[in-house]
Amino acid sequence: MKSIVNIPFPYLQGYPEATLAQVQQLMDGKGLGPWLLGKYPQPHGVRTDRALYGYVQDLKQDYLRSTEPLAKVAFDSKLHVVKNALGTHTTISRVQGNKLKSKREIRVASLFKDTPEPFLKMIVVHELAHLRERDHDKAFYQLCAHMEPSYHQLEFEVRIYLTHLETTGERLWTAAAAD
Ligand SMILES: [Zn+2]
Repeated sequence: MKSIVNIPFPYLQGYPEATLAQVQQLMDGKGLGPWLLGKYPQPHGVRTDRALYGYVQDLKQDYLRSTEPLAKVAFDSKLHVVKNALGTHTTISRVQGNKLKSKREIRVASLFKDTPEPFLKMIVVHELAHLRERDHDKAFYQLCAHMEPSYHQLEFEVRIYLTHLETTGERLWTAAAAD
């Protein structure tokens, strides 16, 4: 007997009950992993900091050309994706020292090395939007949606993947030589 009501969705806080019920239904059925893999069979293949820099730079050129150049772009294995990257649905406080402000860096949690391209795009769009909008407010999400029209759906699906990882520990899309 498994309890339905007690399974927490720490990554899906703020989403409607009906949505969470659908997620639960998927988990009870074929599982979130097969659902995600069915939707996105392939990983993106952007696996080095250099490749990531190019990927980020292309998007920046398209949408945020006037913002300061990026000093660094890197995958970061110590980054907790929700706490430090995605934030919650409410505003998170970000370090605002002059130092950090003047040195524009984009760090992407290593988890995104092995994801489909739309997931990488979602997190990169999120981080790029912070070059212009500090908080997770309306203007911020408007900018995200301008860069990626499916932003909200993709963030939801990334959170579904995080929920899958939390509940099963099973990484999807993992490359053969994953680190
Ligand atoms: Zn953020």
